[in-house]
Amino acid sequence: MRLDKLLANMGYGSRKEVKQLLKEKAVTVDGTVVKDAAMKVNPEQQDVSVYGERVIYTEFIYLMMNKPPGVISATEDRYDETVIDLLDPLAQHFKPFPVGRLDKDTEGLLLITNDGNLSHNLLSPKKHVPKTYYATIDGIVTEADIEAFRQGVELDDGYVTKPGELVILQSGDISEIELTIQEGKFHQVKRMFETVGKKVTYLKRLSMGPLVLDEELALGDYRELTEEELALLT
Ligand code: URA
Repeated sequence: MRLDKLLANMGYGSRKEVKQLLKEKAVTVDGTVVKDAAMKVNPEQQDVSVYGERVIYTEFIYLMMNKPPGVISATEDRYDETVIDLLDPLAQHFKPFPVGRLDKDTEGLLLITNDGNLSHNLLSPKKHVPKTYYATIDGIVTEADIEAFRQGVELDDGYVTKPGELVILQSGDISEIELTIQEGKFHQVKRMFETVGKKVTYLKRLSMGPLVLDEELALGDYRELTEEELALLT
């Protein structure tokens, strides 16, 4: 990899700013000052340092975001802000993408990475990775709804859902529930409630497989996964 690309990717500024660092003799490769931006380096085998500090190269980035409402789960959009727009430029350098989609108005746990294999494994329909949502529902949620979701309900396109686990937290004019589903069909939670004649008025994802939303994250905030969280996913 070119030296200037490595340094730009690792957050040492734009290519232009990196050139300035090289000019200032701030960059060494295996202890020797290097000024050639195009020099090919292997950061895993060579000691690339800036102002004496070794550049730790990572290929992948794994972020947990508490997605706010009003942004799109995509890498780009013509009209709306995307979850990627919320990331700082350093994180954006890694060209990350969201693992699956949450609706524009849905909040909560969103994994953002550039690791295609991990994303594929989590989204593969064969893996049945469970996702748990908290929702508020217009109207009373009943034992019959719990049973219907356990059996699987037929969505408007004929798809029959895999068994879902519905827990009623509070039932009333506005009910609060948690629902765990095994798939990730388009608008699935909202469409499941439509089959029992009810409307989801607020939706938040709490977990995806073993990954649980860090409630310390404010809406729109994100952080890197811990090593423990990453180990659970891989
Ligand atoms: N189900 C929905 O209806 N919307 C989401 O964003 C996620 C699951």
